Amino acid sequence: MIRLKDINKNFGNVPILKHIDLRVNKGETVVIIGPSGSGKSTLLRCLNLLEQPTSGYLRIADDSLQLKEGDSIKQADVMKIRLHTGMVFQAHHLFPHMTAVQNVMEGLVTVRRQAKVEARAAALRLLKKVGLADKADSYPFQLSGGQQQRVGIARALALEPNVLLFDEPTSALDPEIVGEVLNVMGDLKQEGMTMVIVTHEMQFARLIADHIIFLDQGVVVEEGSPDQVFDAPTQKRTKQFLQRLD
Ligand code: ATP
Ligand code: MG
Repeated sequence: MIRLKDINKNFGNVPILKHIDLRVNKGETVVIIGPSGSGKSTLLRCLNLLEQPTSGYLRIADDSLQLKEGDSIKQADVMKIRLHTGMVFQAHHLFPHMTAVQNVMEGLVTVRRQAKVEARAAALRLLKKVGLADKADSYPFQLSGGQQQRVGIARALALEPNVLLFDEPTSALDPEIVGEVLNVMGDLKQEGMTMVIVTHEMQFARLIADHIIFLDQGVVVEEGSPDQVFDAPTQKRTKQFLQRLD
C-alpha cells in the first residue's frame, strides 16, 4: 500500500530524514517509535505531502512520485497522494464553529461535492462507528478530549482513505480516556484498515502493531515485529531508548 525508497528531508541545510525505506502492506499496522525530535511527525507528514520530501521515491496505492532535490510537485499530484490518506493529529483539529456531524461531512461536501443530505447520512454512519451517534449535533467545546479525537477519526475516515495516519492521537488526553480512542483504532485494525501510527504508548504499540519502526536522528535504526523490537532489540540505541522508558 505504501512504499518509500531513499526518502530524504532537509529543513534548510539540516537533514532531518535520512535514506528512509519503508513498506506498509495493505491491512497492516505500522507503528513508529523514537525519541522526541527524531523525525516521526516529519516522516508522517511526508507520507501525505504536508511536507515535501527533499528527494526519494514515494508510492501510495497506485500513485507514485520520484523526487530529486529542487523538484517541485504539481498540486494535482499532491492531491492524488493526499486523497489516499486520512490524518488524525495529536491535538484535535476540529472546526470549532461546526458541530460533530458538520465536521465529519465537511470533506464530502467540499472535496467530493456530495449533496448535503447524503453527506450528512454518511457522516452520521461514521459517528456511529466511533460510538458518538448521540453527539452529532454537539460542538467541539461540548465534547471531551476523547470524544473530540473520535470525531477526528470519523472525519479522517469520511473520504474513504486507503491509509490512516495517526500522530500521537492520545498524547493530549487524560489517561482515563486514552482507552476509548485506542479501542476505536483497534476496531479499525480488525476491519482491515491500513494504518501508520506514531505513538509513545508502548503497550498499545506492542498490542496493535504488525511492524515497529524505531527512528532515531532521522534514521530507521531498527525494525521488526513487536516481539523482536521490544524483547530482543539488536541495536544499542534501541536498547537505550526502551530502557529509558521503563
Ligand atoms: P516529537 O516526539 O517531539 O513529536 P518528532 O519525532 O515528531 O518529535 P519532528 O517533529 O519530526 O520530531 O521533528 C524532527 C526535527 O525536525 C526536529 O529537530 C525539529 O526541530 C525539526 N523540524 C520539524 N519541523 C520543522 C520545520 N518546519 N522547520 C525546521 N525544522 C523542523
Ligand atoms: Mg512529533
